[in-house]
Amino acid sequence: MSISRRQVMQHALRGIAAAAIGAVAFKLGMRTLSRPGHTCVSDGLCRSCGRLGDCILPQAQSAREILK
Ligand code: SF4
Repeated sequence: MSISRRQVMQHALRGIAAAAIGAVAFKLGMRTLSRPGHTCVSDGLCRSCGRLGDCILPQAQSAREILK
């Protein structure tokens, strides 16, 4: 079984795209984790939490979308 030059290029481009997506996801994750003072203070009960308006945690972002 031989692999064509075109297939090699497709695999290489897919690998590069996957690496780029992974790098962006890692950077966004690290940015969220590196903000001091942003820990959940209400056991994830966003609906009744006083920080819901400006909380950057993912569950708060989801709660804001649902409560719109
Ligand atoms: S808004 Fe939600 S995630 Fe943010 S601190 Fe309050 S309960 Fe925790």
